[in-house]
Amino acid sequence: MNIQNYINGNFHNPIQDDWLDNYNPSNGEVYSQIPNSSSEDVENAYIAAKSAFPSWSQTTLDERSRIMLKISELIEANLDRLAEAESKDNGKPIWLAKAVDIPRASSNFRFFGNAITQFASESHESVGQQAINYTLRQPIGVVGCISPWNLPLYLFTWKIAPAIAAGNCVVAKPSEVTPMTAFLLSEICNEAGLPKGVLNIVHGLGTTAGQAIIEHPDIKAISFTGGTATGAHIAKVAAPMFKKLSLELGGKNPNIIFDDCDYEDMLITTIRSSFGNQGQICLCGSRIFVQDTIYEQFKKDFVNVVSKQKVGHPSAPDTKIGALVSKPHLEKVLSYVDIAKAEGGKVLYGGKQIKVEGYENGYYMEPTIIEVQTDECRVNQEEIFGPVVTIMPFTTEDEVLQIANKVKYGLSATLWTNDLKRTMRMTNQLQAGMVWVNTWLMRDLRTPFGGVKDSGVGREGGFEALRFFTEAKNVCIKY
Ligand code: NAD
Repeated sequence: MNIQNYINGNFHNPIQDDWLDNYNPSNGEVYSQIPNSSSEDVENAYIAAKSAFPSWSQTTLDERSRIMLKISELIEANLDRLAEAESKDNGKPIWLAKAVDIPRASSNFRFFGNAITQFASESHESVGQQAINYTLRQPIGVVGCISPWNLPLYLFTWKIAPAIAAGNCVVAKPSEVTPMTAFLLSEICNEAGLPKGVLNIVHGLGTTAGQAIIEHPDIKAISFTGGTATGAHIAKVAAPMFKKLSLELGGKNPNIIFDDCDYEDMLITTIRSSFGNQGQICLCGSRIFVQDTIYEQFKKDFVNVVSKQKVGHPSAPDTKIGALVSKPHLEKVLSYVDIAKAEGGKVLYGGKQIKVEGYENGYYMEPTIIEVQTDECRVNQEEIFGPVVTIMPFTTEDEVLQIANKVKYGLSATLWTNDLKRTMRMTNQLQAGMVWVNTWLMRDLRTPFGGVKDSGVGREGGFEALRFFTEAKNVCIKY
């Protein structure tokens, strides 16, 4: 099936009739073509968005909400089809797409469709000056949304939903590695009656189609999720045009385990936070620090449980770890195993590519545990973004706090302890946008989401996202 651009409610081939291959990671085969769009396609998407804006920005909140809830319902109604498509495009187990990715895409539309009806702005009575200030929060106009491949529809809708809820029109680009569910979403938007031009989806490479979006002088805000290097590039391009930017970037998150934690709960959750979605979640706790008093026990138990995680075809219900997203990505992740060895790291489990019977050309890899001697080695400092974790013992709270913070990233952190005072001390000092205590990736869509340091700028989620996608205008009236 060929994927097409979605512009002004219609489906279009790329103007230059240039196409890219789309691979199925589970067997390494090309199974569809996607537009290799150029700046001309982006310009057409921009024109459609611009002409839809006056009407959409004046559409009542009730009506916007109604359409968004309809999109949410249709995503739910298409759960199986979307989950299968996501799995085929990305390599993740179908059960995971069914349990997480697609339901979450649906709830993104439901959440922001409801949230916009509750979004209010401030007023300030200037007491003694006989004046009142009130703040309007007006949509920006045409905004750009650019998303990565790891949670394709989930993260794509996480941006689009608040953008259109707030009254903007959107030019969006999903990752060229996983474009399929974004394409299916465009069909759903038409079925739900989303007016033409409110959402436009241009497919293609970051360096051409993506670049055309970020360079466009009249696309005044960019919400981007992806790698830190790409984020830095976008910031450089956008700064002279004073674009509003939300950058959700990479992470190298610590998972800190104290000996007073609920051990079983920690062990099961640590499997998920290490290898969920093949370790390709920006929030994965890929640096595991374990208190020395339970280190040997943890090492034994962790290796034991990890060895039982089945790597297999994404359609098999007992598959825990599916295929990595692409061949170059698999090669990159594998290269870190060699780097680890060269640096003196010890591979406690895994480290190799796997051939799954019947799917020998798929991009499978063993879940991998590397014991490191120092937190300063590359495998402990650089984002690998695959099924590879490092483990290392620590003795004191101060020591682990220092090593947890000694990376350039600051997206999330996980802490396992039952000591309340330690929890308060640690959560206050961990350099991260999000900290989980005795859990991982428990999400409430109202909470601020984002990172510090090289993990990004700005926050998404809840009203933070609606604030990002609006401009505040203060009006002062003297009476
Ligand atoms: P990437 O930066 O390579 O690509 C992300 C998107 O940006 C893609 O759609 C790509 O086509 C586009 N892009 C690339 N170059 C561009 C350019 N010059 N101009 C405009 N767009 C461009 O990232 P990826 O490999 O797709 O995703 C993996 C990264 O995403 C990891 O670093 C991961 O940590 C990060 N991520 C972060 C979060 C978060 O919330 N912080 C969530 C998921 C993934």
